[in-house]
Amino acid sequence: MVNHMGRDLSLETDWNGLYIDGERREAADGETIAVEDPSTRERIAEVPNATRADVDDAYEAAAAAQAEWADAPPARRQEVIEQFSAALRRHREEVIDLLAHEVGGSRTMGETSIQIASDHAGEAATLPRRMKGEHVDSNIPGKENVVQRNPKGVVTVISPWNFPLNLSMRAVAPAIAAGNAVVLKPSTNSPITGGLLFAELFEETDLPDGLINVVTGRGSDIGDRVAGHPHSDVVAFTGSTEVGRRVSGIAGENLAIPAMELGGNNAHVVTGDADLDRAIDGAVFGSFVHQGQVCISINRHIVHESVYDEYVERLTARAEELPVGSAHDDDTVVGPIIDESQRDEMLGYVEGTIEAGATLETGGHTVDIDGVDDSLVVAPTVLSDVTPDMPAACNEHFGPIAPVIPFSDVDEAVEIANDTEYGLSGSVHAGDVGTGMAIADRIETGNVHVNDQPINDEAHVPFSGIGASGVGTYNSDAFLSEITEAKWISLQHEPREYPF
Ligand code: NAP
Repeated sequence: MVNHMGRDLSLETDWNGLYIDGERREAADGETIAVEDPSTRERIAEVPNATRADVDDAYEAAAAAQAEWADAPPARRQEVIEQFSAALRRHREEVIDLLAHEVGGSRTMGETSIQIASDHAGEAATLPRRMKGEHVDSNIPGKENVVQRNPKGVVTVISPWNFPLNLSMRAVAPAIAAGNAVVLKPSTNSPITGGLLFAELFEETDLPDGLINVVTGRGSDIGDRVAGHPHSDVVAFTGSTEVGRRVSGIAGENLAIPAMELGGNNAHVVTGDADLDRAIDGAVFGSFVHQGQVCISINRHIVHESVYDEYVERLTARAEELPVGSAHDDDTVVGPIIDESQRDEMLGYVEGTIEAGATLETGGHTVDIDGVDDSLVVAPTVLSDVTPDMPAACNEHFGPIAPVIPFSDVDEAVEIANDTEYGLSGSVHAGDVGTGMAIADRIETGNVHVNDQPINDEAHVPFSGIGASGVGTYNSDAFLSEITEAKWISLQHEPREYPF
């Protein structure tokens, strides 16, 4: 479908354009980066490899445009976000297709991305009318305290490749809705669906030029400049803990607010009296959706010894039934891993875990796709007899890998679940909800889900990680306070008595 600017949003589109101050342009030195389809391993697009000068231009444009936008009435800012949501709905099928080509997303992954992204845009559209200041009584006679809530200024958004659409959206839409300008740097593995697509969709709205700027380029080249640009007031980063530590250090030095959503090593705890049908349904989805490349997917299954053998047997049978292959086949559930280095790293964890004494129940190998050299598809993998210190259990494996660890009592399950530097999400299946709640209460993470699996994100519910999983909170009012600041203006109505 052709957009208002006469461009369609498909692989045929020329994606070799940074988006700065409402204009598309090549990188200053004309360099590009190739985008590869992980299912076919074919080159599908070229995007600009931005230089530091391009980054500077993006921030200049953002800073120049922001002040006027901050004064736009709430209804106007709401309308723009609603126009953006409508554009996303119009281009739904093309976006799902782009996600399949760019990051190997199955039909389920594409539909889920659209649903979560729409939810975030919908929530963001409510923010302009909910940004309220306050009056606070004063201890000083004759003084009136007025507290305004103002946009921070320029919000930097750095996003990962795994769910690029909704992970960029959850920062971009609220930032603009609240009256900020944005500089968006998507992952080099998802420059279109995490970045350039946003420029195209905003072109179908009445957003003034300069408020959304997209710079594509390698984090290793331009990342430090993006994270530390003097015009940047907030750095909303989603990605690995390793890169996040660096980015938050640079942002902090620049006195910009770091809002960091980082890695996870999430536990799925199953007690002896849990409903195994439900626990295993959750386990299959939570481990294998989008090939396990989800920050909040199940990384470790922690299962009571009384049901351990049955759990392993049933999880293995279900894993073996999952349709595996190219993301372009509508039936595929488990598609390709994003690139060779991620694939090899996760297969290394599997190998190391087997060497350490675990049993490979199924998987542990790549799956050939017709006509593709060096396939990136990894078979759904179940490992039993796993101990918490084995490589597939103590690292964020980010793959379709299910290590199953036995426990004998609840204290031990909680200890294993918490034996990680991360604290992102998790899930608990127990005989009754009260027991599940009591265990959930003891699991040290930002999010825990009882009788479910850990992959949940609702735009109106706070989402955060603790420990090595992040700093700051996303979604709704919690994120609104990251991207706005309170300004105290006091009005002294009567002459004030000073001590001298
Ligand atoms: P990553 O390697 O940390 O990259 C994330 C983003 O940071 C990319 O845009 C990357 O750009 C950029 N970057 C790299 N070096 C940089 C630097 N020096 N300065 C500024 N930016 C830099 O993470 P990923 O592999 O894309 O994503 C997977 C990770 O994200 C996993 O650890 C996962 O758990 C985490 N994640 C967390 C959440 C959450 O909500 N907590 C959600 C999703 C994913 P390039 O691609 O160009 O290097």
